[in-house]
Amino acid sequence: EAKKLGRNQYSFYTQDMQYVAHRRSEQKRELRNALINEELEIHYQPVVDMNTGTVTKAEALIRWRHRTMGIVSPEEFIPLAEETGLIHEIGSWVFMECLEQALKWRARFHPDFQISVNLSPVQFKNSIYFDRWFTLLASAANSHNCLCVEITEGVLLDASEKTAAQLWRFREAGMEMAIDDFGTGYSSLAYIKHVDVDYLKIDRTFIANIATDAADYPLVEAIIMMAHKLGLKVVAEGVETEAQLTLLARIGCDYIQGYWYSKPLPKPAFEAWLQAHEAKQVV
Ligand code: C2E
Ligand code: MG
Ligand code: MG
Ligand code: MG
Repeated sequence: EAKKLGRNQYSFYTQDMQYVAHRRSEQKRELRNALINEELEIHYQPVVDMNTGTVTKAEALIRWRHRTMGIVSPEEFIPLAEETGLIHEIGSWVFMECLEQALKWRARFHPDFQISVNLSPVQFKNSIYFDRWFTLLASAANSHNCLCVEITEGVLLDASEKTAAQLWRFREAGMEMAIDDFGTGYSSLAYIKHVDVDYLKIDRTFIANIATDAADYPLVEAIIMMAHKLGLKVVAEGVETEAQLTLLARIGCDYIQGYWYSKPLPKPAFEAWLQAHEAKQVV
């Protein structure tokens, strides 16, 4: 009987699916308390300026330290936060933390220090939070360009006029803007005409094979040339080897981010890394 035949396979799949579904619903439930219980933390990854060798930028990457599940990756819980709408509160918390941190690091390390904050497309659906951020930014001294918002191509493509208007408000409020994961989506820069963006971040899937895949090197070279012609600075994501670094330097990539320099680090470790890096620079 067909039903019987398919049964083992079926139960094999359902066990996996049940596990995933269970973990998801558990995470959805617990995510509500993650903020209150202070289980969320921000790690910082240095972004190295290829022209000067200095580090005055970092990307903020969120982690969830759960008491039984351990560290949960944002790849896993951000989609749940988006589904439940918790992304608004979580995103706002990240924004506030980064604003405070960027100002501290400006005072302590470099007057131009800047932190990049990832924004989910879902966050553009409720601009009440943005209004609060803008007010906060306006009242903070030395905050001009202390934050950069990273958005994905998708945000710009479904560019309703409302989204475009909101992006203008980010700029007016004194923030820079970056297009994240470039190359994974539509990979057209046509939208640049409508929105003023400062940085293009080339997705790490292109960087991964730049030294080994004959097609990826010219592709990345073309992206960088095009970005420069449009007045954008380029950040290469996911640089892990010296070979990748050398090639990117040769093509004139402006900034490098990746494990070659450092993984994302908790705040104290990031500060120590920064100090060690600065010391190296002087010599
Ligand atoms: P993203 O914004 O593209 O961040 C870069 C990701 O690449 C990070 O993963 C980072 O740890 C990883 N990475 C950096 N250098 C290397 C490298 O050399 N090799 C490899 N293999 N990976 C590298 P992470 O931290 O797991 O974050 C994943 C994604 O989660 C982020 O991708 C971003 O889309 C999202 N995310 C993280 N924090 C936030 C947040 O605060 N808000 C929102 N909305 N999304 C966030
Ligand atoms: Mg990013
Ligand atoms: Mg990215
Ligand atoms: Mg990504």
